[in-house]
Amino acid sequence: MTLSFTIHSLLLGFATIVALGCAPSATNPPPTANTPSIPAAPNDALVQFSVLAALAADDYTDGAPLRDVLAAGDFGLGTFDRLDGEMILLDGKMFQALADGTVRPANLGGTTPFAAVTFFKDDGRRDELSAATLTHLEEQIDRQLPRRNSPYALRITGEFTEVTLRSVPAQSPPFRPLVEVVRDQVTWQHRSVRGTLIGLRCPAWMGTLNVSGYHWHFLSDDQKIGGHVLACQFEHATLRYDDCSSVDIRIPQSTNFDQFDIRHVTQQDVEQIERQRSTSPKD
Ligand SMILES: [Zn+2]
Repeated sequence: MTLSFTIHSLLLGFATIVALGCAPSATNPPPTANTPSIPAAPNDALVQFSVLAALAADDYTDGAPLRDVLAAGDFGLGTFDRLDGEMILLDGKMFQALADGTVRPANLGGTTPFAAVTFFKDDGRRDELSAATLTHLEEQIDRQLPRRNSPYALRITGEFTEVTLRSVPAQSPPFRPLVEVVRDQVTWQHRSVRGTLIGLRCPAWMGTLNVSGYHWHFLSDDQKIGGHVLACQFEHATLRYDDCSSVDIRIPQSTNFDQFDIRHVTQQDVEQIERQRSTSPKD
């Protein structure tokens, strides 16, 4: 599946290049010395930089320039070079939630070994959404979203009664597998904080390309609290969702990526990495 998907994504990338070459539009000006080297994807695509399985296999360096990520979307999530914190992309601004609990605007001169972004536009919404746990939230969204096998970008804004977040510290070589790194994750719990959940729901067919199922990051309205979400509780929030009609995978050209071997990564490893939940009995 990976091989066929890779070929498909190459074709998608080629199609994008051809489309841009044939029909430059007002929203895609001709490249200049300051524009990213990678062409923009169609606005409705979920654009991935690398695949999660490569991250799980400790490919943490030599990733994509953050400016290329910003050129491919205004909404999404990921990590940074050497796993230095959690990436939050919201309204075209990129933030880095560090393992010391602080959040800062990302240094756009950096790179990422894994990110997934899109240009968010509403395909639907639901007001007055309440959830006692992440699982409760996801069950409700499963019932709401029209398509089971399409990726969705999800945005939930409101007052959070409680949110439990994690981040991981920057790693040094020799790198350990990600499943070991996340055992050292740092977690925080916040109460009564206004903010946004930045989420993706990827269908099961995406396998180890991304997290199958839900993946949530959080950013408070004051941009001081953020991270990967392990648990949350809220009332009267608003959900907006964006149905992504294609997946565009940007294949890293690094030696590290070329040496990654999918046989060393299990689905279970990938699930433990990003879907690890709070140990709270509530969730
Ligand atoms: Zn995450």
